[in-house]
Amino acid sequence: MKNVVLLGSTGSIGTSTIKVAEDLPQHVRLVGLAAGNNVDLLVEQARAHRPLAVSISDPAKAAVVAERLGGAARVWSGSAGLLELATLPEADIVLIAIVGTAGLQPALAAIRAGKDIAVASKEILVMAGETVMSEARKHGVRVLAVDSEHSAIFQCLDGKPTDSVRSLWLTASGGPFRTTPKAEFAGITVERALKHPSWVMGRKITIDSATLFNKGLEMIEARWLFDIEMARVKVVVHPQSVVHSMVEFVDGSMLAQLSTPDMCLPIQYALTYPERVGSGRVQTNLAKLGTLTFEEPDAERFPALTLARRAGERGGTLPAVLNAANEVVVEAFCNRKIGFEDITAAVARVMERHEWVAKPSLEEILAADVWAREAAAGRG
Ligand code: NDP
Repeated sequence: MKNVVLLGSTGSIGTSTIKVAEDLPQHVRLVGLAAGNNVDLLVEQARAHRPLAVSISDPAKAAVVAERLGGAARVWSGSAGLLELATLPEADIVLIAIVGTAGLQPALAAIRAGKDIAVASKEILVMAGETVMSEARKHGVRVLAVDSEHSAIFQCLDGKPTDSVRSLWLTASGGPFRTTPKAEFAGITVERALKHPSWVMGRKITIDSATLFNKGLEMIEARWLFDIEMARVKVVVHPQSVVHSMVEFVDGSMLAQLSTPDMCLPIQYALTYPERVGSGRVQTNLAKLGTLTFEEPDAERFPALTLARRAGERGGTLPAVLNAANEVVVEAFCNRKIGFEDITAAVARVMERHEWVAKPSLEEILAADVWAREAAAGRG
């Protein structure tokens, strides 16, 4: 039985994690839940799962949650609430599924309190992967991947060292504009960008999947999670999203992990690791799927991949800048202030202007994040 704290319980990953807990009551117990704004769903989840504590961003909403739960759970709020939950003495593992970088401090607090973390919020590894991984090594805790691609790589590696690896191959669905000619990119609307062909996800990651920034962030995430240089992290487009990623070993052998797309599977694996626990939720019929195809990503139509590779190779503060600028301009695109192509162009301009720090402290990373947000708000 694992005692799990779930940060971001009302989101797409959060609600899938709730399903996993309901599938596996003998293995997963939710001891803490945190939400951003959704009072009704948080209260419903807390009534069903009886966690020891919950937290919500806004203190005024915390009072409403406390009243509706009638003392059934401790109720906290804001970033202090996230830290309380991340260090809850009863927790074995903290799953971080808050969109963006708000999960960074809770992740570090959980690690320092000796807890394993399961990371959906890839942004925190992009921003501060070196710090997170070195703190985890220092405190002897695991950083488990929730992203389906990284879970696939973790499963294929199965403990093999990175010097047995030629390349890690991240698969990308290619997003909704995989076959859209460049000439039509200027006319892409928010509604079209939010229609992902394979996955139903939160808004920010869906736009990131349309620009391929999501795959760029995942390349940097893989670099840190598996302690491998960027040159050996590669991307191949696989529109069916059945092969979740692959490891190519030094002898030329490739191992892949396959299943029909369902985030419950990597979430379950992270929460029950190192066990494999029976569940009927995911069923894959290869004969029905028929054909699996692979193609080169088009770097000209999707320059986000090149930008992310550059940020990952250079390291230092540059990945944090790429990540923060992207978060701000995605929001601007969703609010219809900029066009689809402006997302990548604005991130590139912010990266160009950044005064790079090669070996930053956590404070310098956080400062670079703040700077990039301001620069991106002025569109670079
Ligand atoms: P959603 O937008 O669906 O959910 C975000 C969650 O975070 C919500 O529960 C939201 O609460 C909560 N939240 C936001 N701000 C705060 C805060 N300050 N304190 C506490 N909770 C907060 O996002 P996703 O679930 O899609 O994605 C979450 C993370 O997982 C992202 O980093 C994404 O890149 C990653 N990921 C997602 C995948 C997916 O399939 N969706 C796949 C792989 C990775 P509320 O709704 O109550 O406001």
